[in-house]
This record gives sequence, C-alpha cells and structure tokens, in this order.
Amino acid sequence: MTLREEFEAKEQRELAPYAMTSVATRGRDHEIAPDELRTEFQRDRDRIIHSKAFRRLEYKTQVFVVHEGDHYRTRLTHTLEVSQVGETIARALGLNPDLTETIALGHDLGHTPFGHTGEEALDRILEDGFRHYEQGVRVVEYLETPYIYKGHRGLNLTWETREGILKNNLWKGEPIPNRDEFAHLLVDELPTLEAQVIMYADQIAFISHDVDDGLRSGLIIVDELKDLTIWEEIQGGPEKPASRNIIPFLVNDVIRNSKENLKRFNVKTSEDAKRADHLIVCFSESTRRMKEELFSYLFDHVYFHHRVARIRHKCMETVETLFREFTNDLRLLPTKTQARIKEEIAALPGDLSATEHNAAERRIVAHTIRDYIAGMTDRYAFKVYNDLKAPELRYT
Ligand code: MG
Repeated sequence: MTLREEFEAKEQRELAPYAMTSVATRGRDHEIAPDELRTEFQRDRDRIIHSKAFRRLEYKTQVFVVHEGDHYRTRLTHTLEVSQVGETIARALGLNPDLTETIALGHDLGHTPFGHTGEEALDRILEDGFRHYEQGVRVVEYLETPYIYKGHRGLNLTWETREGILKNNLWKGEPIPNRDEFAHLLVDELPTLEAQVIMYADQIAFISHDVDDGLRSGLIIVDELKDLTIWEEIQGGPEKPASRNIIPFLVNDVIRNSKENLKRFNVKTSEDAKRADHLIVCFSESTRRMKEELFSYLFDHVYFHHRVARIRHKCMETVETLFREFTNDLRLLPTKTQARIKEEIAALPGDLSATEHNAAERRIVAHTIRDYIAGMTDRYAFKVYNDLKAPELRYT
C-alpha cells in the first residue's frame, strides 16, 4: 500500500459522508499517473504553491498598498489566514481539510494589483467585465505554463479545486458573469461544502484583519467599535484587543449553524449539498446581520477613508493608463505577450466576415492586455507606469 493509498483510506474512514474525498474527484483535463506520496488534492495544493501567480501575491494589495508598512496584510498573508480559518472550520465539520486548504491557497490567484481598485478599473474598461474569481480560473487553466513541455497550458488542477476558485463569491448571490467561458465548471450548481467553507473563511479573515489593520493605521479607534451590535460578542478588555475576538466568534457561529443546516436539510453526500437550493455552510441570520453592520462600518471608515481613497485614485489611474497605452501601441507589450496576440489572431477561423474578424481581433487584444495587467504586482504596475509616464529618465 502506498502512502497515498493510506491517505485515501483515511479519508474514507475519518471524513464525514458529505465530505469530498480525493478518489471521488472528477479529475483533471490531462490525465496524470497517481502520485505515491500525495492525494490528488494535496498535489493541487503543491502545484498552486509552486506557481508564479502564488508568489506574486506577496506584492499585491489587500486594502493597504504594499509599501505603506510592513505589518499590513498583503494578498499572500490574507490567503494564509483564509487557509488557517478554513481548515479549522473544515475539520470541525468533518470535511476534507486538503481540498479546503487547496481552494484557500488558490482563491485569490486572479486578483489584480491594488486589490479591488484594480479589479474595478478593469471591470469598467472591459466589455465582458472583470471578476478576480473568473481570472483565477484563467490563471490556473491557461496563464500559468509549467507543463508546456507536456504540450498543455495551465496547472492541470482537479475539477473541484477550479470550481472552488470560480464560485468563491457565490455567498453574495452574484451569478458568474461569463457563463459560456466557464460552463465546464457548471456555473449554476452550488460548489462542494469545502468550497463553501472557503467563502466564509474568506469573509471571516478579511473582516477581522481589516479591523486590525484599520486600528493599526489609526483610521478607526476602539471606542467607535462600541456602537456596533457585534461589540457585545467581541469586546476584549484592556489585555486582549477586540479585533482578536472576531475570528473565534464568527468561526464558532459558522460551525454551529452549518451543523444545523446539514441536519435540517438532510445532507448525506457531497452531491446532496450541491443540489440544495442555498448554501449549507453559512452564518446564522443574527450573526450575518452583525457582520454586515461591521462591514459597512469598515466601508465608510477604512475602505473609503480619504487617506485610502487618495491612493485608490492613483491606483485606478495607473491601471486605466496602462490599459489605454498598451491598446494604442501593442509594441509597448513584452515580446511574449505580443506573440500571443499574433498567434491567436492567426488561429481565427478563415470564414469570418471582415466585421466579425475585427471584433475578434479587438477581443484578443483586450483579453491579452487584461491578463498581462491583472498578473502584475503593485510595484511592477507602478514601475511600468513610471516607465511610460514619468518625465525624468532614471538610469538605475
Ligand atoms: Mg480573499
């Protein structure tokens, strides 16, 4: 028996019947021989950690632009916090901790430079919009290319990991905008319970660390938090700051409420959870309301504080300028990026009308520039902006 087979047997023995086991995966687009040491989901996790997109998360903004201070969260540390919170919830519910961890590590791979500001800028520019969770799937299915020597692009991850990345925002009730592009991940189906855990671990992590970073930056003060309903649940006293009590309070609520839902809706298998008409993993209604109130407080006092808004303005301008300048002169793009445009245009079907051909060409250009900009770190985006726009020449 290999170590992998032992892990697989352990999953069968120890996980709840509604957990997603690694042997039940729908598999990968390109078949590979089983590994001796790792299950399929453990392999996905390693493929994500070794990707370039994962390493770039270190220099991408969460809320505070990376160079503002060394103690603020970045996309990378946010991702690790989501993974930690997610695993705690998954283990308490008897779900597969490996799949949960893997989805957590991949859930923000599609994030642009400058956090949601970069996302918003691209969304305004592109005809078919921009969502980081859709981009995350493009990253793992197309933009990363460690296996090009095997004749295919992408990280070749299992279906369940990709589904978890795509459906990360379903808790907001937002449909997946580009339905056709992602039809292979069954856009109308709810994802596995493990993916549902990450939707909530994500919210728990960001709400708690944004309070913490907000306090650290002086944008908010503890006294103001006292007016919020959630204060009763999280007040810490002089020794323990309130921000440290947010995670345990929300984690316990999600676990308790999800356990009740599993019973109430008689969820016996992973498939039952996908067929339910709403998410099984979620906050109780009263906690959801408290979380929303805290979130809108953060919205006004942190995300849209004038100090943050000024930087936001600069970031928005950077993304818009890069997009515009690249579109106007494709020679400003790296050689490889220009080559992708040429190759994709050359591969267009020969029977298109001139109008159709032009539209397809424009789409190829826009999508290639989208992928190039979305992949940038904050500091690289500022560097390219300076290369294009700064009046002085710097020889460094
Ligand atoms: Mg996130």
